[in-house]
Amino acid sequence: MELFIPDLKKAKGRFLKFYAEIKVSGSGVKAYQDNDPVLKVSLQAAYVNNRVLIKGNWQAGFLGECSRCLEQTNFTLRESFAEEFIHLQAGEGGGTAGNISEKDEQFLFKGELLKLDEYFRQSFFLSLPLKILCHEDCKGLCPICGQNKNKSSCSCTDESTDQRWTPLKHFIEKDSGGV
Ligand SMILES: [Zn+2]
Ligand SMILES: [Zn+2]
Repeated sequence: MELFIPDLKKAKGRFLKFYAEIKVSGSGVKAYQDNDPVLKVSLQAAYVNNRVLIKGNWQAGFLGECSRCLEQTNFTLRESFAEEFIHLQAGEGGGTAGNISEKDEQFLFKGELLKLDEYFRQSFFLSLPLKILCHEDCKGLCPICGQNKNKSSCSCTDESTDQRWTPLKHFIEKDSGGV
């Protein structure tokens, strides 16, 4: 995704609408049929005081394994964003043409194009959750028999009432009582 700065300047500070689809490789997650996830980006951009302001949102679908029940599930991530990029003028130091660089927590760029692919790629990486769930209240797998408890319940008993531990419990109580 690239914004052409002369077009933004012509709009004299008004926000213009843009839409782009950005394929993200190397994220470690895959979408349907082993494809790289695609970010669908809707944004508005304006050029004000040598800065490009952008705001909008993106969404991307990918496949993953639920960390509780291990079922393969389709996930959709959605993020909104608002950012500004300082447009370095001819003769100003720092920045390379077209590409965004970072200095003192600010984004800088030079030239007539603002290339945003890498910005959104990073944004996608940062929003990938460490743990994914097929749904909020996924019941997970039974730790004893491995049954997926979302599909059917099993007859395994809770560990606290498991009869196998009863003799050991007596032993521990007798031992500590004798000292
Ligand atoms: Zn699950
Ligand atoms: Zn079970």
